[in-house]
Amino acid sequence: ELPIEARELSFTYPGNLRPALDRVSFMIPQGARVAIVGPSGSGKSTLTALLVRFWNPGSGILTVGRHPIAAYSPEALRRRIALVSQRTYVFAETIRENLLLARPGATDHELREALRAAGLDHFRTRLDEFAGQHGMQLSGGERQRLAIARAILQDAPVVILDEATASLDAPTEQEVLRRIEEASEGKTIITITHRLQQMERFGNILVLKDGRLAETGTHTELLEKQ
Ligand code: ADP
Ligand code: ADP
Repeated sequence: ELPIEARELSFTYPGNLRPALDRVSFMIPQGARVAIVGPSGSGKSTLTALLVRFWNPGSGILTVGRHPIAAYSPEALRRRIALVSQRTYVFAETIRENLLLARPGATDHELREALRAAGLDHFRTRLDEFAGQHGMQLSGGERQRLAIARAILQDAPVVILDEATASLDAPTEQEVLRRIEEASEGKTIITITHRLQQMERFGNILVLKDGRLAETGTHTELLEKQ
């Protein structure tokens, strides 16, 4: 059980007057599917950076499980919170080696299931091909989906998708999100995105504006307000 709670969480970049995050409070229970939505500059990347402890909170409280986030070592936090970010990279190794980084000792069956969940069905028979520039050519979308497969295998109770499906076209994005959910029974999934439209699967949406938590609601509720 790894609930994530923010209380009056703020962060200001050195040299800035305006906080990038301004007294944001929320509670995300274990197993929730939450989308954090907002336009460019609203504080999404800053919140993500705090959730993986790339930065420490400026003020306020961020707790992961029963402890403040600062109580976790980087390794301990990585075991609990898997991040798939916009900038993902693929190593110049085989598909299998790329995936095994996420879960050493995984069986081929598990690897194929993760590939399927990430929408890479066509890679299931190609585990020994090279993912890097020495072999198979991967598109930006394929690299992103490989990163999603790694996050699924990583088996952390919380997965953060930071614009991780943004390069996919809308129907593919919907499908990949659906498969991630299916493959992530009981896990918390936090999707960070500027696109509210595609987030209908998420019953729980937090909207950031200018660093503040402007509103929360379901997809339908928020679309009606627009
Ligand atoms: P988003 O991810 O929603 O586009 P960000 O979290 O990147 O928003 O930005 C929130 C605010 O913080 C913006 O006003 C942005 O200019 C500022 N900001 C972001 N990163 C930095 C940084 N490294 N240094 C200074 N200011 C930053
Ligand atoms: P896209 O146009 O699909 O977004 P990019 O322009 O980012 O893809 O990359 C072009 C090609 O370069 C990719 O199809 C891929 O084959 C190769 N490439 C880029 N980065 C890597 C990497 N880290 N590992 C392996 N191949 C890469």
